[in-house]
Amino acid sequence: MKTQDMISMLNLKDPDELDLLFKQAYAVKKHTVGTNVYFRGIIELSNICTKNCFYCGIRKGNTEVQRYMMTFEEVIEAAVWSHEQGYGSIVIQSGERSDAEFTGFISSLLKEIQIRTNGELGITLSLGEQTEDTYRQWFELGAHRYLIRIETSNPILYHTLHPADHSWSKRIECIRTLKRLAYQTGTGVMIGLPGQTVEHLAEDIQFFMDEDIDMIGMGPFIPHHGTPYHNLVNGFDGEAALERALKMIAVCRIAMPDINIASTTALQALNPTGREMGLLAGANIIMPNITDTKYRASYTLYEGKPCLDENASQCIGCLENRITSIGESIGYRQWGDSLHYVNRKS
Ligand code: SAM
Ligand code: SF4
Repeated sequence: MKTQDMISMLNLKDPDELDLLFKQAYAVKKHTVGTNVYFRGIIELSNICTKNCFYCGIRKGNTEVQRYMMTFEEVIEAAVWSHEQGYGSIVIQSGERSDAEFTGFISSLLKEIQIRTNGELGITLSLGEQTEDTYRQWFELGAHRYLIRIETSNPILYHTLHPADHSWSKRIECIRTLKRLAYQTGTGVMIGLPGQTVEHLAEDIQFFMDEDIDMIGMGPFIPHHGTPYHNLVNGFDGEAALERALKMIAVCRIAMPDINIASTTALQALNPTGREMGLLAGANIIMPNITDTKYRASYTLYEGKPCLDENASQCIGCLENRITSIGESIGYRQWGDSLHYVNRKS
């Protein structure tokens, strides 16, 4: 797809034209990856973070946050629960730490999850930048997908959103290392970042294509009061943010028909049916939150995070209804691997 075509699609405003775009993306999805939605139960392991990304509610510099780390048993319980519910996979996500205590803790978790779920549960990690050795060790212990967003593919924009010691090049290096190690590799961006243009978003899609990535987890940027972007909280236009994010999903699906695309929770923060809208615009993955409700409010990356007091079993009933109501089905007990990865490896 040419950059100019991406830009034209991303610039659409007319409701009828937008409807056509979403229908086209949905047809591509239906034809290529089908209408099964795959669940990845997300475990928000810890909000302790050594980094200070300007946009993030759990950045190190936000002193209002009560820091936590789930216990070993709590994580195992959540993983086993997920397996029993027939969720094909889990995602373990956390603030970024690369000390030996943390990386060793993840290794022990991976070993125990494999034992307790007979190696049947798909495991995605989203734990930020790590060394090649750490990534390799986690892969050998059973993690087979990794999600690390580039946040924006434009290095100049990246540096306006991060302190000077955060490195865009390091992030690229991580994506490439993960691919080399044979992980199903996912990346993504935030949509609607301060200073971001439609041209930047088209560059992001080109970046996903050039890096030949297997999965995308992207969502709207939503400002948080405990960050340097607190002044954007009042006056934030949720409707426009949602529309922009849905257009990005649709264009990515059309440009990369066989990848997995997540309909992220941030969409639901902007509209109660935001995740269903994401599925109808071309996404095929949902990440239900299975973190214990006692921790959820402390993992607030952006304002208005949904389901803070809804436990995991309430979430599953609500999600099932939402998905079947739009005529899709749930791929219970299936990993739902990225077809792009399967094709790339065969
Ligand atoms: N610490 C790891 C990392 O940064 O890769 C993983 C966890 S981090 C909380 C996951 C993602 O949250 C980030 O990649 C970022 O895109 C997203 N995020 C952070 N702040 C956000 C905000 N204000 N609005 C939307 N998404 C946000
Ligand atoms: Fe930490 Fe990730 Fe938030 Fe950056 S986006 S501050 S690395 S949790």
